[in-house]
Amino acid sequence: MVSRVIPVEPFDLVVFGGTGDLAQRKILPALFRRFCAGQWPDDVQIIGAARAGFDRDGFRDVVAESMRRHAPKHCQDAGKMAAFLQRVDYVPLDASTGEGWDQLAEKLSVDRVRAFYFSVGPRLFGPLADRIKAHALATARTRIVVEKPFGHDLESARALNATLAEHFTEGQIYRIDHYLGKETVQNLMAVRFGNMLFEPLWNSQYVDHIQITVAESVGIDGREEYYDRAGAMRDMMQNHLMQLLCLIAMEPPAKFDPDAVRDEKLKVIRALDPVKPHHIVRGQFEGGTNGPGYRATVGNPRSTTESYVALRAHVSNWRWAGTPFYLRTGKRLVARSSVINVMFKDAPHSIFGEEVGRHANVLSIRLQPNEGITLKVTIKEPGPGGMRLVDVPLDMSFAEALGPGNQDPPDAYERLVMDVIRGNQTLFMRGDEVEAAWAWTDPIIAGWQARGDVPKPYDSGSTGPGDAELLMKRDGRHWQGINP
Ligand code: NAD
Repeated sequence: MVSRVIPVEPFDLVVFGGTGDLAQRKILPALFRRFCAGQWPDDVQIIGAARAGFDRDGFRDVVAESMRRHAPKHCQDAGKMAAFLQRVDYVPLDASTGEGWDQLAEKLSVDRVRAFYFSVGPRLFGPLADRIKAHALATARTRIVVEKPFGHDLESARALNATLAEHFTEGQIYRIDHYLGKETVQNLMAVRFGNMLFEPLWNSQYVDHIQITVAESVGIDGREEYYDRAGAMRDMMQNHLMQLLCLIAMEPPAKFDPDAVRDEKLKVIRALDPVKPHHIVRGQFEGGTNGPGYRATVGNPRSTTESYVALRAHVSNWRWAGTPFYLRTGKRLVARSSVINVMFKDAPHSIFGEEVGRHANVLSIRLQPNEGITLKVTIKEPGPGGMRLVDVPLDMSFAEALGPGNQDPPDAYERLVMDVIRGNQTLFMRGDEVEAAWAWTDPIIAGWQARGDVPKPYDSGSTGPGDAELLMKRDGRHWQGINP
């Protein structure tokens, strides 16, 4: 089965911050892949806009170099690259002054989809929105794409929402959480709502608990100043892990439509209980063979920012009463691995006597690496010698299951940018969702500050602080392994 490419209509896409890390590593390579896939008509325009004083050819050279480094091998074709670069232009521009905006206006086509991607630091999100409006660049077919972080807390998120709302309707604002663009995340919805098998069991009667792990092996990587102000709670938990929790816990939407899905996600966030202090563990990595410790990395010897957080959350509604959600995320852990494990309850009665080798079912939804879904089931160990039981995975690895042509699923940014052009907001966060997520996160952070909480140290390359294991052990449970 080879994936279908649904063509999009002509568009202009302005990437503010086009010379920056995210644009060069993710956004432009994603656009190039969609171009290689033949998804665009001929007259598409990609305009980089940033402070650097390039001309068009200088910017094309930068983009070409990025494509060589970051685009997949099957796209490394000189002809395709040249054709793609023909569609790339550049305007030197300052987001906070009037410089460059008239030149940008001259380049934009009339009467077609116009997308502005805000790939600049968050302090420039508001000024960019103001400038777009002041220079009359917003049409009815204009969309803006706003990167994370969307605010630093509830108050700043509200203020940013209010600024954007002065100039754009909610239907024009695409708040990116790239986790939502991952193939597996959408497959989670397909598996839940496209089959009869899982949904009847998807509640506290059959699910013992749920684990969501987003583990990174890397450290802070050049984002020291931002990260030391944010920490794992703001950088990962408030957005990526919360979004995954919502998709696991939400009620079936009436249809797969942006507001129906986002209404259900919002209800989950609003049903979350406040987290008790003894249900949270914060950690900070220590130095090791793979680099200095957290405090040395950020150059702040007294930093109390967490590079790891694990917590136990409760969704207070009929479906989930009594089923805890354990969430953890951290840097410099043993492996890079994002996985959701739905841990089912044990069978109510054993007919086999002593059941060596049998465990309760686990549905594992792997986001990275090796995207796929696995269901652990018990079967009889083959061969004579009595009824010996063994757990085997029913593996739904997408690359294998879907065959040639799907070995290399689209990157999250490919899907998301094309969704912006198509005008589909299902995989983007609505303003009220973001605010609700901050409303849940803020008291946790305020509690740490009020108590003068200091994160527990953990070894680089480990699974995190020992207290995170205790968090589970106290409940008679344990984390599934981080190694993919
Ligand atoms: P960066 O520092 O590498 O690039 C910033 C870009 O903004 C550059 O092109 C720079 O020229 C431009 N810029 C700075 N000031 C400007 C001004 N006054 N007017 C016009 N352009 C200006 O940053 P980045 O890592 O690419 O991050 C961009 C955004 O994406 C940030 O909001 C960041 O939080 C978010 N983000 C980045 C990553 C990542 O992996 N880099 C991941 C998730 C989210």
